[in-house]
Amino acid sequence: SVITRFAPSPTGFLHIGGGRTALFNWAYAKNRGGKMLLRIEDTDRERSTPEAVDAILDGLTWLGLDWDGEAVSQYARASRHREVAEILLAKGHAYRCYCSPEELQAMREKAEAEKRPVRYDGTWRDRDPATAPAGVKPVIRFKSPQQGETVIEDHAQGRVVFQNKELDDLIILRSDGNPTYNLSVVVDDHDMGVTHIIRGVDHLTNAARQTQIYKAMGWHVPEMTHVPLIHGPDGAKLSKRHGALGVEAYRAMGYLPAAMRNYLARLGWSHGDDEIFSTEQMVDWFGLDAIGKSPSRFDFVKLENLNGHYMRGTPDAELLAAFITFLPHVAGGPEMLGRIDAGMKAKLLRAMPGLKERAKTLVDLMKSAQFLFAERPLTLDDKARQIMADGGVAALTALLPVLEATEWNVQSVEAAVKAHAEATGAKLGKLAQPLRAALTGTSTSPGIFDVLDVLGRAESLNRIADALK
Ligand code: GLU
Repeated sequence: SVITRFAPSPTGFLHIGGGRTALFNWAYAKNRGGKMLLRIEDTDRERSTPEAVDAILDGLTWLGLDWDGEAVSQYARASRHREVAEILLAKGHAYRCYCSPEELQAMREKAEAEKRPVRYDGTWRDRDPATAPAGVKPVIRFKSPQQGETVIEDHAQGRVVFQNKELDDLIILRSDGNPTYNLSVVVDDHDMGVTHIIRGVDHLTNAARQTQIYKAMGWHVPEMTHVPLIHGPDGAKLSKRHGALGVEAYRAMGYLPAAMRNYLARLGWSHGDDEIFSTEQMVDWFGLDAIGKSPSRFDFVKLENLNGHYMRGTPDAELLAAFITFLPHVAGGPEMLGRIDAGMKAKLLRAMPGLKERAKTLVDLMKSAQFLFAERPLTLDDKARQIMADGGVAALTALLPVLEATEWNVQSVEAAVKAHAEATGAKLGKLAQPLRAALTGTSTSPGIFDVLDVLGRAESLNRIADALK
């Protein structure tokens, strides 16, 4: 059965490309009734931190991507990696290299002078270890084949051919006994039973090296899929401004996990012309051969629109729950959360149809819900003050007694305001604007009759009276 893995290096947050890689591994495992494993590639002891591990697990959890079993620490498996280095040595697929730093430096300089890529020249490949200089701690190098080709039949990239003579003898064990990256990955993927490797195309050259190690060990080479990079909307490398952020930044920007999954799925994978689909559909349809070869473009506008679509499609109570879990992650959110008691929850729920109609993100929702939390007397923003000054005061002075005399439900309030507009020849907008200013302190809000309804009679009349003082 299919076993995939997500193998992040815990040196920072789960970035957006990592999130997509995880999603593809997850979707493929689910599609095939298999498993997705998680391996933390924490061998860089200086850059790997427990906080980064937590941030990655947290990011995956927020995205709704689960993994099978315990997360595996690559660092904890170092002795097994050493063991395999020794096996390669014993099989004649690796050798000890006693080159001094000076000799390696000379190799580098020579290559640079001849304007060719720096490669290890194979000094110790066939040399008798008995001639080793005393006191030098050797590294172990992989004896990579010098003739022929290494071919990767990649599900996304197609057939990729590497000339073996281009790949030098890479170090698999450092002189301090620490295994290097390509060895660790092969040993772990083999031991974890990984059948399908899905990762960024930046690992394609590693894939060739890793294939050689698999073959030297006589191990089965997993299926490979190297996913193209994510570029910015301008086609250039993804910059921070254009979306190269951690998954937690997307949470703080108010995106819903379901919308993120849908959006990320479309970055590199496609199912006909379908743009909007549920996670279930994605899992149903997901396959490696529909992953494209060219870089995809990250587009915030598309993501926002998609998120707005998901918000409108989310039932009110569910969206309120999502809003509440979102608040701790955004500036000002914890304070707002502290004020959400049962009464406020009921108000938010009641206001939700109007709120979500206009909101593309939970941040938008937070802004437009602000009026529910405002305390009297409201502080009016500049635009709202201007509206009041430009005839708003006069309009509301005339309207207030009408509202005071009206039975308080959406229909009769709306009918009364409209009748008043007709009787006085005022445009409805000329009444709605000052009402909005007085009731919310701003010039944008959900529909004004929704606002009147959610605030209730006493609070609405009081806020209007405040604005007339
Ligand atoms: N740890 C690597 C990274 O974060 C991934 C290695 C792999 O998937 O083989 O880029």
